[in-house]
Amino acid sequence: MTTKTKPTPVEHHENSMFDAVLARLDIAAKICGLSEDVTNILRNPQRQVKVSLPVMMDNGKVQIFEGFRTIHSTILGPSKGGIRYAMDVCDDEVKALSAWMTFKCAVANIPYGGAKGGIKCDPRKLSIGESERLTRAYTAAMADVFGVDKDIPAPDMGTSGREMAWIVDEYNKIFRGSFPGVVTGKPVGIGGSLGRDAATGRGVMISTLAALKKMNLDPKKVTASVQGFGNVGSHAARLLASRGIKICAIGDHTATFWNEKGIDIQAALRHTKENGGVLRGFNGGTEIKANELLTANVDILVPAALQNVITEEIAANVKAKLIVEGANGPTTPEADSILQEKGIIVIPDILANGGGVTVSYFEWVQNKYGHYWNEEEVKTKHDASMNDAFEQVWYNGQHYKTTMRIGAYITALKKVEFGIKAKGSY
Ligand code: NAD
Repeated sequence: MTTKTKPTPVEHHENSMFDAVLARLDIAAKICGLSEDVTNILRNPQRQVKVSLPVMMDNGKVQIFEGFRTIHSTILGPSKGGIRYAMDVCDDEVKALSAWMTFKCAVANIPYGGAKGGIKCDPRKLSIGESERLTRAYTAAMADVFGVDKDIPAPDMGTSGREMAWIVDEYNKIFRGSFPGVVTGKPVGIGGSLGRDAATGRGVMISTLAALKKMNLDPKKVTASVQGFGNVGSHAARLLASRGIKICAIGDHTATFWNEKGIDIQAALRHTKENGGVLRGFNGGTEIKANELLTANVDILVPAALQNVITEEIAANVKAKLIVEGANGPTTPEADSILQEKGIIVIPDILANGGGVTVSYFEWVQNKYGHYWNEEEVKTKHDASMNDAFEQVWYNGQHYKTTMRIGAYITALKKVEFGIKAKGSY
């Protein structure tokens, strides 16, 4: 089932996320015979915007923040991608994440291109007022970039429905109207979609179940560890547990826990709710080192926090048979080769975490339509779309005798290539 052809050597500069994208893009392009012209178009983002944002802090001093937005491609539709608030946000990271959005939307069969944005800041150190002023300043600076049919942001690490509500409000003020579809991931009640909050975690669950089926494994007899207990990780852990999968390890930036008998995820959720969103102090397991979660003796590993955590060294020690990438870019290209040699199946980020953008698309459709679906409708459409995407990627992995990651890139590249050739204005 897992293909064991000799992995193609990769060349990429350590720490450059965009090089990690190009490494995979080049391998996939070669395997599926993508034209050099199309490859070159996709190696270069369409537009990169960088702004400086002066913000009045609570201490009365003005602080300058750096804001970014990269539009990687608009070939298949308006560009779509989240906004990240973190200290490591930079050109390289935003560029990489924007390219993954192009491929993710194509894999998910939704009519969008790819973009990503971010602000270099530590969201945990900002007061609510500072965060609001920063978000509004960013929106004003990006007013000519964003647009319902142009570029549509959403939440990512460090942002949530709260920031999306400020963005739509600021945008509405600037353009003097009501444009709910300019951003997705909004709170339900101001144009958000039911089911959006849990959507990425739900997609992780659906793709995990689809992979277990291919592997002939019973969900009720397998164990998992989940890194990250934010939006993606906490919903993924909850939903995997609800399908009978025993979650033996969970962790966030404050603490990591192991429980052979299975962690009570509902108790962990209650704990984070009562403790400012963090796992520190949870007593439902033994505390272990953060990296031990990645190499724990479980069947499924779900990285749902940071990029570049599955390095060569970690990959050599991974015991899981299946890795489901809830996070974007958790595995380095060098680690890919090791996992492939070990026969570990990796459901790549551009497939596994595509549930978020799929329900974002449903939110945008509902905003345009002015008519809102019930949660069952959202879930049914989401599950069907995720299963279709999984099957297409699985098929391409098998057909081209490669990994699911390269199978996913091939799935995306062929669709984007079709778009480029059909439009053909070069
Ligand atoms: P979030 O901010 O809600 O949560 C991030 C989690 O990671 C938190 O639990 C945090 O404590 C944890 N974390 C941070 N540093 C850590 C460390 N050093 N060790 C262990 N855990 C650490 O973010 P999120 O929205 O859940 O995003 C997580 C990942 O999923 C990111 O890669 C993001 O790009 C990706 N993603 C998110 C969505 C979405 O809809 N939110 C969609 C697709 C992909």
